[in-house]
Parts: sequence; structure tokens; C-alpha cells
Amino acid sequence: MKTNMPPEEFRRIGHEIIDWIADYLAHVRDYPVLPNAQPGDLKRRLPPAAPLQGEPIEQIWQDFRRLILPAVTHWNHPRFHGYFSISGSPPGILAETLIAALNMNGMLWKTSPAATELEEVTLGWLREWIGLPAEFFGVILDTASVGALHALVAAREMADPDARRRGHRRPLVLYTSEHAHSSIEKAALAAGIGQEFVRKVPVDAGYRLHPPALEEAMERDEAAGLQPFCVAATVGTTSVTSIDPLPAVADIAAKYGAWLHVDAAYGGSAAVAPEFRAVLEGADRADSIVVSPQKWLFTPMDLSVLYTRRPEVLRHAFSLVPEYLRTAEDARAVNYMDYCLPLGRRFRALKLWFIMRYLGREGAAELIRRHVAWAREFAAWLRQDGRFEIIAPVTLSLVCFRYRGSNEDNQRLLDAVNSSGKAFLSHNVLDHRFVLRFAIGNIATTHEDIEEVWALLRAAANGL
Ligand SMILES: *Cc1c(COP(=O)(O)O)cnc(C)c1O
Repeated sequence: MKTNMPPEEFRRIGHEIIDWIADYLAHVRDYPVLPNAQPGDLKRRLPPAAPLQGEPIEQIWQDFRRLILPAVTHWNHPRFHGYFSISGSPPGILAETLIAALNMNGMLWKTSPAATELEEVTLGWLREWIGLPAEFFGVILDTASVGALHALVAAREMADPDARRRGHRRPLVLYTSEHAHSSIEKAALAAGIGQEFVRKVPVDAGYRLHPPALEEAMERDEAAGLQPFCVAATVGTTSVTSIDPLPAVADIAAKYGAWLHVDAAYGGSAAVAPEFRAVLEGADRADSIVVSPQKWLFTPMDLSVLYTRRPEVLRHAFSLVPEYLRTAEDARAVNYMDYCLPLGRRFRALKLWFIMRYLGREGAAELIRRHVAWAREFAAWLRQDGRFEIIAPVTLSLVCFRYRGSNEDNQRLLDAVNSSGKAFLSHNVLDHRFVLRFAIGNIATTHEDIEEVWALLRAAANGL
């Protein structure tokens, strides 16, 4: 019977796995981006029950390569251009290994001073990199969706401080644009706001929230006795990376006393490059902002940051301390569990610290700069070709385009590119039109990769 792994065995297999990871990162282009898999394929190849007797690590490791890998979508492939392209960067991968080895739980300062203080420090650095004022307090959460939920609960706390005790009574109304991420509406479901009280404000021709429409909706609701409690604006929408006009939105939110949340999960990272600072113009007036280093700051899943200018409101919404979690340092230290729903907290700050130090601000900014430049270049190629049209302004590193043909033609084009295994693009439907999304964001992507996708696309268009 096996009850633990001996250190020598860990060392031997550990070296082998690190070697494999190094080879994987060096040759990831040899893998098809999308697996050639059908639903159920992997499940059929795995035993229905876990083993009674422990198995050799060699066997498990071999089955990872033989069974699991063929069912993997290679998100870390430099030609993964679907959704938003992300990166498990090498420094981040190393930090993840250390995080697992230490396995600490940073619920309180006391439960691991390093977890708490490194989180404070790295989030201070990141705040500076993206140009937010020092009064913003940051909390690391797993995802932007969970960040949105926390923001909405804090907004409810501010609008109706008694809601914590008896639930909220007067209907609260949330405003966001038609192009906001679904996580905003989901947060409203989870926070008990109710879908009927989520207003999806129309957008302008550039898919940006239209301020007069926002003001009109808030005015109407207030006159009807409802309480406009929160406006959620987006910097870099998932559909087209449009950037809502934050200064105008902030004015309107302030007029009605509503909490302003800014979802900058993807777009916020652009502000690391000085020339794109303007994407967060007006964000200093927000009550909360989500920026996800796991999106476009080369940080492995999962790490999203919620910043708020009102930590005391967030704390009032979430702090509930049982006796066994009280410590002598409570008055002198941050206990992150007071600012969020989860009690247990991974040491996520370590990977952000590794990455920020390894790249430096200049390295990170250069990557973002290249990605934006390549997106613009790709859009120019599409325009010059004549067979394609650009569907939305290329604000950052996403190009939304379509072949000048039917929706079916565009679906066929996408299938042809994706089934090649050489690249992956995703799609969207905008105004009933099937649109292809080409997102750049992986740390290992090169200009040759972009050229290769363009060649694939032209070949597929020739075949239509
Ligand atoms: C990706 C994304 C989200 C959701 O992020 P998760 O971390 O997966 O919850 C929300 N908003 C925007 C704008 C995004 O790009």
C-alpha cells in the first residue's frame, strides 16, 4: 500500500516533467490547436472507478501523455486566436509549481504573512502600472465573473446597508451595455438583483455604451420609484473590444448616486503601455474595477484582480469572523478573507510577482504594443485583400471581420482554418451576421504566426 511519494521519486519524475514542459513550450506549434475529439472519447478511455491500489507515477504520467493530451485544447499555443488569447508564461508556470509546493492558505495575515503582504505589494505595483490612484485597494480573485459578483454586492451594500441583515427590499436596478460580458448579468442573478432589473443600454455605432440612453433609462427608473444602484461599464468588450466612454458614464452614475463598476478584464492590461493609458481614462472615478492578468498579462489561469476605491464597503459586505479566526494582529494587518466570499485563498500573488519582475514594465508593455500593432496590420491585410470587411473598430488586439459572403460561407471559412489544426479563431454573431474573431495575446506569438494565419485564411477563402 502506498501512502506518500518518496522524495527521490519526486525528484526523478519532477525533473522529467519539467523537461517535458520545456519541450512542450518550445514545440507547442507541433500540436494541433484544437483536439480531434468527439464528446465522450476521453471518458470511454478512462476507467469508471478510481483505483483501489495506488499506481506507479510512471503509469499516471504516461497516461497523461497518451490519454489526456490528445483531448487537450492548446490554449498556450501561439496561434490560439479564439475568445481572448491568453498565456501560461514560463515564469508563471514556475511560480505555480512553488504555489502548489507551499500550499498555503492566505485567508488571514496570520495564516501566511507572505500571501497577504505579497498580494498587497504586487497589487500596488499593478495599480501603478495601469495608472490607477493609490486609494484603490486590490483583492485577487479567481475570475472576472467572481469580481463582478463582489462589485455588485458591494454596490448593493452601499445602496442599502441594511440589506446585509434583512435582504434588499426596494428594487435595485443595474445598468450595463448590450455588449457587456454575460458575467455582469450572471452576477445580478447571483446577487438576487433579478434579470428584470438589469437594463441593457443600447450602444453607438462603435458598440460603446451610449450615455444619453443610460441617463434616460436611469431617469425613467428613478421616476418609477426604482433605485438605480449600479452602472457596469466595459473597457474592452468581449464581443468587439469596444471601450465605453467612462468619463461620461461616471458623470451619470454620480448624478444618480450609483456605484460605477468597470469591467476591464481584458482591456485594462493595455494601460501598462503608456500610449494606451487612455483606455482607462475616467476609471479613477470608478468605485470598482476588474483587471485580469490571466487575460492579457501573461499570467496562468486563474488570477483576476478586483480594485475598489471603497474597501470599507466591500468589507462591510463580506466580513463575518467566527471566534476561531480572530487573531491578535487583526487591527494591524489586512485579513483578505474580510474582503471576499472565499475563505480559503491560494497564494496567487506569487505568480504575478514572478511575471512582473521577470518582464518588467517595459517588457510587458512591449508585448502589448506588438499585439496591438499586429492586430492593426492584420486588419490592413484584410482590407487590402478586398474579399473581407472589418466589422468593428480595432481598438486593441482583437480583429472582428467577415468574408463578404453569406453566413454559411463564413462558417465554412472558420471551419477550414480551425480544422487545419494550425490556428484557432472563434466567432460571434453581430446584427445577424456571422463574424470571425481573431485575438492576439499569447506571449509566444510571433509575426510569422500572424502571417501564417493570414495565409491559412486566404487559402480557405480561395477554396470557397
Ligand atoms: C473574459 C472576460 C470576462 C470573464 O472572465 P472570467 O475570468 O472567465 O470570469 C468578463 N468580462 C470581460 C470583458 C472579459 O473579457
